[in-house]
Amino acid sequence: GPVDLSCDVLVLGAGPGGYSAAFRAADLGLKVVLVERYATLGGVCLNVGCIPSKALLHVAAVVDEVKHLAKAGVEFGAPQINIDTLRAHKDKVVGKLTGGLAAMAKMRKVTTVRGLGQFVGANALKVELTEGEGSATTGQSQVIGFKAAIIAAGSQAVRLPFMPDDPRVVDSTGALDLQAVPKRMLILGGGIIGLEMGTVYSTLGARLDVVEMLDGLMQGADRDLVKVWQKMNAPRFDHIMVNTKTVAAKATPEGIQVSFEAAKEGVQVPEPQTYDLVLQAVGRTPNGKKIGAEAAGVSVSDRGFIPVDVQMRTNVPHIFAIGDIVGQPMLAHKAVHEAHVAAEVIAGELQGNKELATSAFNARVIPSVAYTDPEVAWVGLTEEQAKAQGVKVTKGLFPWSASGRAIANGRDEGFTKLLFDAETHRIVGGGIVGTHAGDMIGEIALAIEMGADAVDIGKTIHPHPTLGESLGMAAEVAHGTCTDLP
Ligand code: FAD
Repeated sequence: GPVDLSCDVLVLGAGPGGYSAAFRAADLGLKVVLVERYATLGGVCLNVGCIPSKALLHVAAVVDEVKHLAKAGVEFGAPQINIDTLRAHKDKVVGKLTGGLAAMAKMRKVTTVRGLGQFVGANALKVELTEGEGSATTGQSQVIGFKAAIIAAGSQAVRLPFMPDDPRVVDSTGALDLQAVPKRMLILGGGIIGLEMGTVYSTLGARLDVVEMLDGLMQGADRDLVKVWQKMNAPRFDHIMVNTKTVAAKATPEGIQVSFEAAKEGVQVPEPQTYDLVLQAVGRTPNGKKIGAEAAGVSVSDRGFIPVDVQMRTNVPHIFAIGDIVGQPMLAHKAVHEAHVAAEVIAGELQGNKELATSAFNARVIPSVAYTDPEVAWVGLTEEQAKAQGVKVTKGLFPWSASGRAIANGRDEGFTKLLFDAETHRIVGGGIVGTHAGDMIGEIALAIEMGADAVDIGKTIHPHPTLGESLGMAAEVAHGTCTDLP
């Protein structure tokens, strides 16, 4: 029968937002119940997002890197790909991390409840219990009472209404399932998720097409960064269609036939094309309308987002929301930081700790990374935004063709760009394209958070020879003191 599971904090959803909130709340001494419909913790990011995609992208990067070695006098034969072993490898990576989370939850005495949660009041959540691999309910349910709640129910892939229901049409979850390598693959949507998955499939042997409604791939990044990626990656594609809409699709024995239309006057579009695999990567939609929010009195926008203030509080004072469900950018590192804020505010209020109770999300910037090859990473103001907002900036650009390390690596196509406020010389943004760009962008984020100026960064001694040196050099370029190149 139903057990009483009343708690201080109920967390709905065990993605990066949910588990981070639950762990922080437990560390602060609260009694926490974490509700998740799936068998493993970790949400989209660990199970079907960040982590499995990076496991596959690492393999793809090594395969591609090995090809570059021919120029250095070392040749390997064509790769022999065993897709079952590759899938098992990816699953093992995911299992290691989700298993680790389960152990950490146990260690912290966070109670996890497996099932589909729906609010039934301002202080109660009903959970339809689920078990087994999928998420079919067992018919049993449980009501959990709480003093405070954190909604971390995330988002899911958008489906285009005219796409046929066919195993050859997948979203990112289906693509990560890696059933077979198609001969021809269409990526619907030229954003990070689509291009990352395209990179994997192309390295495994697929020919790619990509279609994007807006005027360029990887929206959000400055065009100069994307240009470098696009030049390096052009050989993977038959058609890169921008300013183009996908208007119809039908399943045929030969494949999925897709028709295109110009989204802007004068744009040439190809005849209908037939694909073995179509990946829908046209964005993600928040799960706000699926959790019974109205029963708790929590406001949800038409699009399914839950509005919150800087403390991650919804319109209901003891209910908070974090992660993809509160808005863009839908990124794991944003969810984690919001999670800590929500947990701290709740602990502060329940325990009368004024300092904790004033915790707020006040990050100046949130970095974005496309883990493609080369990687593209950016943070803070872009040049395009600076122009649009009329912000005067000084640019420091350091081409990797002048970086000893990039040349030694045989990968000198990239560059590092820093943008400084023209008056204060404080850094306001930056972008990197090149191998390991994602691992370096955090330094720019730190510099922005600390209010560093060009001299601070230029005079910081970076080890030689590293790609990270390019950050110091870019700052010196901006400051006009760049005299000797490595
Ligand atoms: P989610 O991770 O979506 O978790 C929500 C959880 O809530 C899910 O487990 C869901 O089952 C559960 N849930 C929902 N409703 C209910 C309910 N009613 N009852 C019970 N449980 C419920 N971000 C990055 O920062 N870096 C990356 O490299 C990156 N790569 C990505 C690659 C792909 C292919 C995809 C799809 C996404 C990627 N993301 C990446 C985005 C990242 O996965 C999300 O931003 C992140 O997972 C959001 O965390 P969250 O906690 O808000 O929600």
